[in-house]
Amino acid sequence: MQVINPATGALINEIPSDTKEHVLSKIEKLRKGQPLWADVPVEERLAILLRFGELVADSVEELAFVLTQETGKPLQQSINEIKGANNRLVHLEANATKWLAEEVMVSEGATKEQISYEPLGVVANISAWNFPYNVGYNVFLYALVAGNSVVYKPSEFASMTGLKFRELLWKAGVPEYAFECVIGTGEVGQMLLEADLDGYFFTGSYATGRYIATQVAPKLVPMQLELGGKDPLYVMDDVIDVRQAAINAAEGAFYNNGQSCCAVERIYVQEGIYDQFVEHFIEEVKSYKMGDPMDKSTFIGPLTREPQVQVLLDQVQDALLKGAELKHGGFSPEGEGYYFTPTVLTSVNHGMDLMKEESFGPIIGIQKVANDEEALKLMKDTSYGLTAAVFATDKGRAMQLLKQLPVGTVYWNCCDRVSPNVPWSGRKNSGLGSTLSYQGIRAFVQPKAYHLRD
Ligand code: NAD
Repeated sequence: MQVINPATGALINEIPSDTKEHVLSKIEKLRKGQPLWADVPVEERLAILLRFGELVADSVEELAFVLTQETGKPLQQSINEIKGANNRLVHLEANATKWLAEEVMVSEGATKEQISYEPLGVVANISAWNFPYNVGYNVFLYALVAGNSVVYKPSEFASMTGLKFRELLWKAGVPEYAFECVIGTGEVGQMLLEADLDGYFFTGSYATGRYIATQVAPKLVPMQLELGGKDPLYVMDDVIDVRQAAINAAEGAFYNNGQSCCAVERIYVQEGIYDQFVEHFIEEVKSYKMGDPMDKSTFIGPLTREPQVQVLLDQVQDALLKGAELKHGGFSPEGEGYYFTPTVLTSVNHGMDLMKEESFGPIIGIQKVANDEEALKLMKDTSYGLTAAVFATDKGRAMQLLKQLPVGTVYWNCCDRVSPNVPWSGRKNSGLGSTLSYQGIRAFVQPKAYHLRD
């Protein structure tokens, strides 16, 4: 499999893809070893994973270089991601033992009742490239601490990072029979779907997730899907610092080149502050440095996947044909690499793909709204349900609106944020099931009820 540097289009590596034979033999090894890993006390499993965290911390610069090379993520943002993802380990250290412990529900009387939490077995983690540390950790660390063996399939756009995970997990003491990595495109993912596994945990697009759901359903094993979004942000007219609101909104839209599942994908601004907001927003976007992702001062690097350039060009074209105004960007600059200039469009509406389809790139539409009622109607007008944000001074007014949104995560005066302390879940076409929080620990175990009579 060829690894291409998205900043230059040059070949940087060739990694052998796994064949069906490899995939099956790796799964067989995991199948045989999983009961041994499950027998290791949870405290010991946790200690091994914390050691993994230390090994990652010791080589942040090298790992960030690898991530930037294969995905084009600006180096400083790669460093931020790798360091930031450690909060999953902090969360597990504080909570895993508690949430995996046996629970005595009835201790008096003739019949004692208790619950134990057993691992699922061998689980698949089919992952995405945009935040491989965050979304990988959400699954494989939580699955491992619960005593599962994991077959991890990194995205074909983050395979070198996936192999680094394996190297460092093994080095930390995770047995080779508890964690394996399979390399390849969707074809290798398909091999996992055809294999006999005990759980499927997927992060990626709605289209692939929906397909996976149809394939896994007849197996009757747990399945979780963390999919895309079209996340709205609404700015109410009571915000005191409109400029700061615009700066924060722009960061939510353009961080990691807009390639975040919870990136701000559409913005609504109440009419009283609309012109002021747009002016500050454009000023901020103009200040972004686009260029070589290896330069630590770069904020906008190349897109990770070449075909996405055309998706964005099409969204701009469609919006302009339907009456949008292009305020900044809108094109892919000449030269090497899959770059796209940060793009801002106004006079947009929901007849445009830009406001309805996931863009997953550095492009945003800003729409004027009269009041909260209109904003709510537009925010809800989507097939997705990942996150939604409101910027406002009046918390009561913001909460009133946030409560009515059918999404897994809501933000007041912040956005594009994930925390291990609360569940990460999508509704509607954004997914099924939760990772993170105690729910994300329990996602990797199955309860067994004991009725015990002396
Ligand atoms: P993708 O769906 O193209 O690929 C995801 C993974 O699925 C890859 O490993 C790919 O090889 C594999 N795959 C593809 N076809 C398959 C098949 N037929 N069978 C099994 N596996 C198959 O998605 P992507 O481009 O890697 O990621 C971007 C998408 O992921 C965006 O929509 C983004 O919003 C979403 N995402 C969601 C979250 C979240 O937590 N909700 C986090 C990150 C990314």
